[in-house]
Amino acid sequence: MTFAYQLAKAGHDVTVVDRQKAPALETSYTNAGEVSFGYCSPWAAPGIPQKALKWIFMRHAPLILRPKLDAAMVSWLFKMLSNCTSERYPINKSRMLRLADYSRQTLADVRKETGIRYDERMKGTLQLFRTQQQLDACAKDMKALAADGIPYRLLGRDDCTHFEPALTHVREKFVGGLLTPMDETGDCFKFANALAEKAGKFGVRFLFNTVIQGLNVEAGRVRGITTDRGRLDADIIVVALGSFSPLLLKPLGIKLPVYPVKGYSLTIPIADASRAPESTIMDETYKIAITRLGDRIRVGGMAEISGYTNDLGEARRRTLEHSVTDLFPGGDVSKALFWSGLRPMTPDGTPVIGATRIAGLFLNTGHGTLGWTMSTGSAKVLSDIVSGKAPEIDVHGLAISRYA
Ligand SMILES: Cc1cc2nc3c(=O)[nH]c(=O)nc-3n(C[C@H](O)[C@H](O)[C@H](O)COP(=O)(O)OP(=O)(O)OC[C@H]3O[C@@H](n4cnc5c(N)ncnc54)[C@H](O)[C@@H]3O)c2cc1C
Repeated sequence: MTFAYQLAKAGHDVTVVDRQKAPALETSYTNAGEVSFGYCSPWAAPGIPQKALKWIFMRHAPLILRPKLDAAMVSWLFKMLSNCTSERYPINKSRMLRLADYSRQTLADVRKETGIRYDERMKGTLQLFRTQQQLDACAKDMKALAADGIPYRLLGRDDCTHFEPALTHVREKFVGGLLTPMDETGDCFKFANALAEKAGKFGVRFLFNTVIQGLNVEAGRVRGITTDRGRLDADIIVVALGSFSPLLLKPLGIKLPVYPVKGYSLTIPIADASRAPESTIMDETYKIAITRLGDRIRVGGMAEISGYTNDLGEARRRTLEHSVTDLFPGGDVSKALFWSGLRPMTPDGTPVIGATRIAGLFLNTGHGTLGWTMSTGSAKVLSDIVSGKAPEIDVHGLAISRYA
């Protein structure tokens, strides 16, 4: 939706085609609600393979691996492991941060231009450490934040309660935290729908309830798409189908290493605001984000590698309930909405934005763990590329050609 908005604003004739009945009903529906520019880092990092083994066996496991005889899963896992090195990590991270930093500016511009509201707050993210070991280990994160010029503050227990007053009731459960004050929060579904309305005013047409079955290419150039409701001609096609993007590219011989990594969330009505969060808290132990969205608490996290399935497991619900009620018992979990979504993950963490070897075919996908956070920057970069303008940031390493 961010891309459709930018492209229409640049004067193009845009049609959004989606199988759902409205915007943002798949992965963007009830994500964790963080717009965490400061936290954009690849999951593929040095030491992750060893940590992953530990996580898999935890009671409230942040990582669940269900191996399958699926060539795409195996190939993706190997590629991800090959990115867990001290050489690849800084390269991948700097690409993500470049986009995230640009997204900070472009999101502010979008907000100013449109005036859209989406339960947004600008109060930062607090990474909460339950153990001294976690607190000590964050020294390397602080170094990385400082190197990237991202403001941060290391907080002791009392400072944490100052930032999040409801934590006063559970002071003994944590030792400190790392605050990135420039981060934002909000409801991604509301954001996308409000932006769709504005995009409509710029002339964007929406074809909902329409399944794209194939991309039509003739003589090395895209001609349009085939859907379950007929053909649609176009000069330019931008594939932005989240985890499903590689499936439509495969018949064209384009191998896009995007694979679904499932996550879960709970949306809980607040019953006692004095015991609810004010902004986003990242519970470092369970790798779960807890966010305030108006009169609701959103809890999201976990990484389950199990293919294209949205099954909801009760054990995952219990993990989310445990993490949130342990720190913020101000919500009524019995009335919570339980949900799962498929993060479109690349093995190196950076989304895939730019042209392909087929004329007129572009990609804007693979946004993984912090896709909303990087969405407005990605949209502006690609809108400039499609319009034949020089993007405002260095786009080296963002296109699919980096996997060649
Ligand atoms: C639990 C969880 C928590 C998260 N928390 C955060 C967070 O706090 N902050 C953040 O920035 N990011 C977060 N993310 C990541 C973020 O939600 C995703 O990166 C983002 O939603 C991806 O958006 P997308 O538009 O690329 O994909 P999607 O939202 O999945 O959209 C893809 C669209 O393509 C359509 N589609 C697919 N195939 C077809 C077809 N054949 N024909 C027609 N239409 C089709 C679908 O209907 C869908 O509308 C989280 C993800 C999860 C799972």
